[in-house]
Amino acid sequence: MVAGTMDGAAIARGVREQVAGDVARLVAAGGTAPGLATVLVGEDPASEVYVRNKRRSCAAAGMVDLHRHLPGDVTQADAAALVDELAADPAVSGILLQLPLPDHLDPGELLARIPVGKDVDGLTVGNAGLLAQGLPGLRPCTPAGVLEILDHHEVPLAGAEAVVVGRSVLVGRPVAQLLLERNATVTICHSRTRHLAEVCRRADVLVVAAGIPGLIGPEAVRPGAVVVDVGIHRGPQGLHGDVRFDAVQDVARLLTPVPGGVGPMTIAMLLANTVTAAARQQGIAL
Ligand code: ADP
Repeated sequence: MVAGTMDGAAIARGVREQVAGDVARLVAAGGTAPGLATVLVGEDPASEVYVRNKRRSCAAAGMVDLHRHLPGDVTQADAAALVDELAADPAVSGILLQLPLPDHLDPGELLARIPVGKDVDGLTVGNAGLLAQGLPGLRPCTPAGVLEILDHHEVPLAGAEAVVVGRSVLVGRPVAQLLLERNATVTICHSRTRHLAEVCRRADVLVVAAGIPGLIGPEAVRPGAVVVDVGIHRGPQGLHGDVRFDAVQDVARLLTPVPGGVGPMTIAMLLANTVTAAARQQGIAL
């Protein structure tokens, strides 16, 4: 068997089109266009690229770019004051604090100032709590993107064996909770898991977010499984993931490539969260 490729770039395009339609519907219903406040602190080149992409995509979807840039030596109090200002501003539908911050700042304290309804990254303790309790809230973008890919390919989740490799707050934990919400039987693996390959081989759906290049090979994949690779690593031959794509392709039924798999979904889901947040704030049903 040669696995089909799950094309995240194409699925992300579909989500963006849907978001642009939602923005137009919101405005047509008498609402205002959603505003996304990206907050960048300092001059980290990778963060600058990520923020630029988010701003561009936001504008392309018809949303208002409310970017703010703080100097790298900003004090915690001044950064907090900016977050409070954005929290109170009705033009701001969503606040995205680009991480990592310079070492002298406490990200947790700043994230805690973002109201759950404006937390379009889904990273605050408030939204994590809503997810943990299975209540409606803004879901973290990368995990939401993983589910969107699975849904696009109509991968059955209810009753399915799902194995998540990784338990990070950003990816592993919320992915596991989203799969649980969809009634999968979820196993979470991490750095202390014994017999990783054996556990992974149980999976109908295997989601890998360990941050270790090539961690998962064909010996860890059940024939016919669906494999989603959240890892991204820059090597001499370009970008690759936590999954050995070529070898796993002979075993899996469906597989995400790196690049072009989960990566493009993250910004698309950020846009989706922003229009959702705006509609809720404005009391308009989309
Ligand atoms: P991400 O950015 O994808 O969230 P992190 O680097 O923050 O990834 O976290 C890596 C996660 O992967 C951790 O939860 C860790 O327990 C898990 N992990 C690390 N090494 C292994 C391993 N050898 N096998 C399984 N899981 C691992």
